[in-house]
Amino acid sequence: MVKVNPVLLHKTGSQVRQEIRACIGCSECIQACPAVAEPITIDMLNRETVSGEISGPVARFARSCYQCGACVPPCPVGLHREAMMMWLKVRLLSTE
Ligand code: SF4
Ligand code: SF4
Repeated sequence: MVKVNPVLLHKTGSQVRQEIRACIGCSECIQACPAVAEPITIDMLNRETVSGEISGPVARFARSCYQCGACVPPCPVGLHREAMMMWLKVRLLSTE
């Protein structure tokens, strides 16, 4: 498993995993995101944010996220997709 330096992030790995467990899979965050350029499911995004191989679509999405925060207000359960994306970005860099 890839170790990510938590100092670089505004949420720790355990906080990100906690947020992903709390996600109800509504996809409101993805629908609000101006950086989504190809079909991506919330299940694959959540899974690949914290474990396993990062697929091409998820890697491209992670690279294109520019931390605008537009994904946060629409979340009905108050989660921070932008923080999850930052974690995914660093995880992606760590695996390249
Ligand atoms: S922070 Fe990233 S994932 Fe969220 S809306 Fe902006 S570009 Fe999309
Ligand atoms: S908007 Fe919130 S609950 Fe819905 S998929 Fe995104 S993070 Fe999960």
